[in-house]
Formats: sequence, C-alpha cells, structure tokens
Amino acid sequence: MASACSIRVRGVVQGVGFRPFVYRLARANTLAGWVLNGAEGVEIYLEGTEPGLQAFVHDLKMQPPPAANIADIEVHPAAPVGLNEFTIRESQRRDRPTVRISSDLPVCDACLKELFDPADPRYGYPYINCTNCGPRYTVVVSLPYDRPNTTMKHWLLCEYCEVEYQNPANRRFHAQPVACPACGPAYYLRCNDEIVHGSEASIRKAVQLLNAGSIVAVKGLGGYHLACDARNSVSVAALRDRKYRKEKPFALMPKDLEVARSLVELSPEAEGLLMSSARPIVLAPMRANFSGVAPENNELGVMLPYTPLHHLLFAAGGPEVLVMTSANRSSEPIAYEDEEAVDRLSGIADAFLIGERPIARRVDDSVARVGAFGTAILRRARGYAPGAVAAIPSERPILAVGADLKNAITLVVDGQAFVSQHIGDLGHYESLRAFQETIQDLISMYEVRPEELVVVHDSHPQYVSTAHALGLGIPRSLAVQHHRAHIASVLAERAAWDTRVVGVSFDGTGYGDDGGIWGGEIFVGSVRTGFKRIAHLRSASLPGGDAAAEYPVQAAAGFLAQLDGLPDLTAAPFSFPRRYENARELVHKNVRTFATTSVGRLFDAVAALLGFTREITFEGQAAMWVEQLARGARLAEPYPFPLIGEELDFRPLLQSVIRDRLRGRDLAEIARAFQRGVAEGLRDALVEICRSQNLSIVVLSGGVFQNELLLEDLKSLLEKEALQIWTNHAVPPNDGGISLGQAAIAAFCQLDQQLQELTYA
Ligand SMILES: [Zn+2]
Ligand SMILES: [Zn+2]
Ligand SMILES: [Zn+2]
Repeated sequence: MASACSIRVRGVVQGVGFRPFVYRLARANTLAGWVLNGAEGVEIYLEGTEPGLQAFVHDLKMQPPPAANIADIEVHPAAPVGLNEFTIRESQRRDRPTVRISSDLPVCDACLKELFDPADPRYGYPYINCTNCGPRYTVVVSLPYDRPNTTMKHWLLCEYCEVEYQNPANRRFHAQPVACPACGPAYYLRCNDEIVHGSEASIRKAVQLLNAGSIVAVKGLGGYHLACDARNSVSVAALRDRKYRKEKPFALMPKDLEVARSLVELSPEAEGLLMSSARPIVLAPMRANFSGVAPENNELGVMLPYTPLHHLLFAAGGPEVLVMTSANRSSEPIAYEDEEAVDRLSGIADAFLIGERPIARRVDDSVARVGAFGTAILRRARGYAPGAVAAIPSERPILAVGADLKNAITLVVDGQAFVSQHIGDLGHYESLRAFQETIQDLISMYEVRPEELVVVHDSHPQYVSTAHALGLGIPRSLAVQHHRAHIASVLAERAAWDTRVVGVSFDGTGYGDDGGIWGGEIFVGSVRTGFKRIAHLRSASLPGGDAAAEYPVQAAAGFLAQLDGLPDLTAAPFSFPRRYENARELVHKNVRTFATTSVGRLFDAVAALLGFTREITFEGQAAMWVEQLARGARLAEPYPFPLIGEELDFRPLLQSVIRDRLRGRDLAEIARAFQRGVAEGLRDALVEICRSQNLSIVVLSGGVFQNELLLEDLKSLLEKEALQIWTNHAVPPNDGGISLGQAAIAAFCQLDQQLQELTYA
C-alpha cells in the first residue's frame, strides 16, 4: 500500500542544485510527487513505499548537495493522492522571501574537468559553472533566484545550454548563470587604446603582460583585482606606489595548494580553511619572502584560485604566484563596475581584463586565519556574505548599521540575522555610497517595509553611520554602546541570550557612556539583562582624540604624562619627533585632549617607545608591529599590569618598557614581556572577577583580539584556571562584527508603544 509525506527543507537550499538532487533521489527510490522552491525553502511531496520514503529522508539528511546548508527538515505524513510520476514544479511566491541567498562558490571539480577538456563545448570558457559552483550573491538582483532576476538575464540560452538547463538529471538543471561560448558573455582585454576580443586571446595577452611585469586589472566575482607577478619586485613596488599603499600587505594567489605550501606554513586546519567553499585569504606564517609584498610582517595572506578565469590564467602560463589585491586606491571599496574601474584604475593598471557579465554588487575577498581559538574571520565578505550567521528571536525586522570603520550591516528578518559583506571605512565617499546601497539592497531583497523596522546604531553621536540611521526616517531607533555590541556579537553567534558572562572588550576606539574614548572595558551581564561595566583600563589623556590613532607618539604623550621621572624622550634611544612635544603641550594645557581607556592606544604608546615613531599607514599597524616584534623573542618574564580597584594600571607596564629600553635590552624581548604582561594582568583580573561574580565564561571581542599572540597567551593561562573562553567565529572580532551585536541587543529591548521608544531593561 502506498504511503505519502510532505517535507519542508529550510536553510541555504536554493541555487545550490537542490531540486535536481531531490528529483534524482526520488527517482532512485521509485517515488512519485513533486518539488518546488517555496518562499520559505524547498517543499517536497512524495508518494511510494514506506522503505522508499525512509531511504529518501535518510539520504536527504546524510548526503545533501555540497553547496547546500540545511537549517532544518520537517517531515509530515500525508494522504496519498495517487500520483504516478515525479515533477519539478514552478517557483511559488508568498509574502516575504525568507529563503537564504547562497554566497558565491568556487568552481567545482566537475566544471574544472570540462574547462580543460578540449572536446567539451565549454573548453577554456571563463564563465563555466553549474548548480554546485559559480556566482550567486554577486549575480542575484532580486528574489526568487531565477535567471530573469540575475545579471545573466540579457543572455539567452543556446540550444545546448537549454537542454542541460531543462534536464532534471543534469547538474546544470536550473543553474541560473549557465552559459557557454556560443551564447554567453566573454572576456576581452583593454590595453591603452587596443582591444583584444575573445576570452582565449585576451587571457593569453593578459598572461604575456603579467609575465612581462605589467599590472593587470582583472574582473572577478565581486569586483576587480589588481594582479602582478609576486616574484617581480619591480612590479610589486610599482603597484604599491601607484595604489598609494605604502606598507599594508598584499594578498597572494598561488597556482595551487602545493605552491601555497611553499609560501606559508599551513596546519591541516589552515589548509581546510584555504580550500573551504568560501576560499578566503588565509593568514599564515610566512615561509617564502617576497620583497615588498608584506613589509615588516611574519605573515602572508594567501588564497587559492576560485574562478574558472583564475585557473585559466595559471594554465596559460601566468606567473606561479600572483599578487591579487582589491582594485582600489588605498582603503576605498573594491571597484566593480567596468567604466568605474577603468576610470578609477587608469594610472594604476597597465591593462584591463574585463568580463562582460555584470556584477550585481561589490563583494571583496574574505580574510581569515586559524587561531588559538579556531577559525577567526577578520574580513567577512565573498563566500560568507550574505549568509545568516545567527538566529535572533525578534518578530520585528531589525536593521543594525554597525560602526564607521570596517563597516558591515545586519538585517534581521523573521528571526534570521543576515550580515552584509564588509563595506569599509565610511570616511570615504565611495564606502559611504556602498553602505547606503547595501542597506537598500538588503531591505528590498527581503522586502522589508521601513515602517516595520527598528534601526540600531552606535552611540557615537558623530558617527556617519549614526547620522545615516537617524536620517532614514524610521521612527524607532536605538543607540547601542560600541563595546557592549562587541561582547553581544559573540553571544549572538551562540544564541546565548541568558548566559551571564564576563565580557572583555579590548579595542582601538569606541564612544563610552561618559563620552570618553573607550577600548579597555570589562563588563558583567547577559544580552537579555544588559552589561554593566565593572572594570577598565586606567584612564589616560589622548591629545587630538581619535586622530591620535594615526601617530603612536601622540598616544604615547598622553599615556606617559602620568609617569614620574620620565627621561628625555626626544633623545636616544627613543628619538621621538617634534609631534610628541606638541602633543605633550596639549596634554599639559588640557587642550583638544580627551580621556581614553583604549588598549589599542596603549599598544601604540609601546610601539612608539620601541621605535615606531612615524605615522601609521593603515589601521592597527603599530599594534601589529609590536606583535610581530614580540614573536621574535622567547617567552619573557611579564611586566606588571595590576588590577587596582576597577582599574587595570598601565603605569608599571610602561615604566618597565622605558627602564629596559634605557638599559639596552633587546627590543623583541621587551615587546614579548609587554605582551605577556597584558595577558597575565588580564588573567589575574578575570580570575578575581569570575570568583567574586561566581562566573566561569569569559567573552573576548574587540579589535585588539586580532592579536594572535595575545590570544595564544590567554588561552594557555586561562585553561589552567578552568575558565571557558568564547570568541567570535562567524563575524570578525573587529568592528566588522559590531552590527550583529547591535541587532542582538535591540532584539531584547522593550518597545514603549506610546513613546515608540526603545528601552533596555
Ligand atoms: Zn560546477
Ligand atoms: Zn550556450
Ligand atoms: Zn570596536
């Protein structure tokens, strides 16, 4: 006798070959019924024998398509209606699309095989893809994910592609970006006034140029890269020069995993991350040194080829290791529109390898590393965005706009928190535009009406993101303090709403409750009840306020003002420049001077004392420099960093640094003793706080926790104390994770119906 059931599958299940997979599975088990893409996921109805149905459900759970990410499967018994075949039905639309947009996927092995098979119609075709691979978020314009809603809508399928697209047994069944050389877009190359047409010829020409030392702008999935031969130091220096990027490391793309292994030390976990479907840039200890790629750094950022085009460039004899850096001038967002790219990058690139398929939105490469506490994502973009990172219990949609640096936004719809790709520093006009576009993009994609929204922003009154949030005309808004948002971001990843924790936010900068520049805060509390600040770094003066972040000696002037018996720091071995004297004047006269508890600035002050007395050229550079320096020394006796009352006192730390510097101690040893001092001081403080508060879980978040050596020290120290450490894994510990924390806190605020104001219990 026939049985029947209906099944609903939620998660990342559209645009990943789910329906053809279901079709094949149903046929294999001799089941009748149908499958369709509903607004809430994939819906399946099945009829057949009981063992057939069971086998189907088993395989659905155990062997889903590689790119799918199933959140849950609901199976309900049904009454058989007597169907005798299995069909794929048209997409259905209901109120709001809650299906998730898949992130972009690297080219799969089956497509790679075809790419290099001379007998295949898609031989050498840079846009080959299938339901298991290829672009998604960077081609989808609106939902549901069907071809007319993608940037491929202008290319009509040829007969060959059409047959594959319509055949449920084919891996290109309903592969929306499917194309071939006969019917699809191509690449061409532009070099001065010359245009080389045709994918094959243009790739060949690009390879010639790269081998000759030229810089080529290459259109990828989410934007343009600037590529050059990483082993050609003249090209690398030219790229740095033209891009106004003095010292920030460039990412490398080696030909394959084997070449990657020769560049960096890779643990099995790091190799897994490198080859994961997100294909991020993975930071790992340097093995090979390329002049100019990562100055004064022991780490390199490496990513594997992920588009068919990348593979074609290497196969055509391109350099074995390419510099592949986002095509922009220093810290502007990545260029993604063809004319804009040619416009913005002329003067940087010698040639442009341009693909005809438009990019729906800019999505940069992601950056990640395998650290002491597992995977840490430092820039979350291609391959991850716009995936849901957390389930936040909120009936009302929430828009959280993040912070002004390393901006990313979060939209909570039907309890799912979608975090956008990395947008960047909102001080740049281009980034601000990208920020506004991304808000509109996500809101319209998920069909949220502004009047239903709650908007959340940082409590900094002068943030551009705050002004924008308040200017959206959304009646309900909430300000969330920066460092509480950092802590909440970790708890949101774990859906730990009621867990009481000790939250440590060591950070560069953030607006404090008292209007000061915070960044060395320890809180106690939970997302549901709020976080109380119970300890912090001893307050110092910061001449010039946030602008001091550019000049380590300026931060030093503020912190050192509290030390007695200072030597003349303008003399050797410190040799501080004039800027230090000027900053000291400001502190003494209390002019343009702000109170700060920022641990990031404490690291800057130490960098200055150890010789980093120039201007920084990218955010966090001086602190990274201290970490790299410290890695050059063995474990050293820590400098004291005691908790006195509610204050972590930095004075003994700095006194020790100055004393040892005057004695001529090795710089690396001083840096190591400082880093260890911060770790042991924090350990002692946490042990005391956890004991007095009866807590055992410590949350670490904030930009300073990108310092891997600090994390390694804390891990070994806190393990001995039987304290659990929670860190970020799905969003960055830096300000790229702020919007998730803001959204989580907003979900637990009470809405005052009359005032339309939010209050936090
Ligand atoms: Zn494929
Ligand atoms: Zn075709
Ligand atoms: Zn921050």
